[in-house]
Amino acid sequence: MARRPLIAANWKMHKTQQEARSFVAALLPKIRDIRDRDILICPSFPLISAVDQARKESQILLGAQNMYFEEKGAFTGEVSHGMLKDLHCEFVILGHSERRWVFGETDQMINKKVLAAIQGGLIPILCVGEKLSEREQNLTEQVILNQMDLGIKGVPEDVIVNLVVAYEPVWAIGTGRNASAKDAKDAVSLIREFIHSRYGSVAADKIRILYGGSVKPENMATYMKEDGIDGGLVGGASLEPDSFAKLICY
Ligand code: PEP
Repeated sequence: MARRPLIAANWKMHKTQQEARSFVAALLPKIRDIRDRDILICPSFPLISAVDQARKESQILLGAQNMYFEEKGAFTGEVSHGMLKDLHCEFVILGHSERRWVFGETDQMINKKVLAAIQGGLIPILCVGEKLSEREQNLTEQVILNQMDLGIKGVPEDVIVNLVVAYEPVWAIGTGRNASAKDAKDAVSLIREFIHSRYGSVAADKIRILYGGSVKPENMATYMKEDGIDGGLVGGASLEPDSFAKLICY
């Protein structure tokens, strides 16, 4: 079945409010006629309102890069799904490798976030992927399956199709060293088979699985040609409107 492609920008810790507004203003005319795919921007928390206002009535979707799993309370520095919904976010990236490996997030924490995001009406983009040392030890499949198993524990059958998964090998993120289309396709197939084994064929057919890791305008099309890859989660190359527009129009 045809799944709607999703091209997602992860701005990480970049841009001011003015830069975010200028980016969206420059992007909008370039994507005016694009209606057959989802376009998502995930700015850092302080820029969410600026992007929301700048996107106006456009087709741009809005997401955050992280959230905490509790609804409210004494959690200094954290934000909840309710706060993100209040800012009109529709998506939230969870388990990004920078959250896992810079900030020490465990699969158990990420799972709690996935469940909380779903409960709060946000679409989680669950990131999974192996480190270079794990790839070198032929542990790629094991790592991906383990992160999937723990990450989606307890996700009910009726909502699994709304989840988005991003295969992001850690060694490819921000390094300029992108995975080959075949490696990305194999990992995405593995994830889809896993969903099939847990939730059946309808869920496996419907769930969107992205590739992320040094995606650029020059290599985007090679991924999108692969069966099963439904889009990209893009860091560095999403920071300039020209480059992001080219990715969207792959
Ligand atoms: C990311 O941040 O998820 C990412 C894939 O970054 P980059 O595109 O810069 O590798």
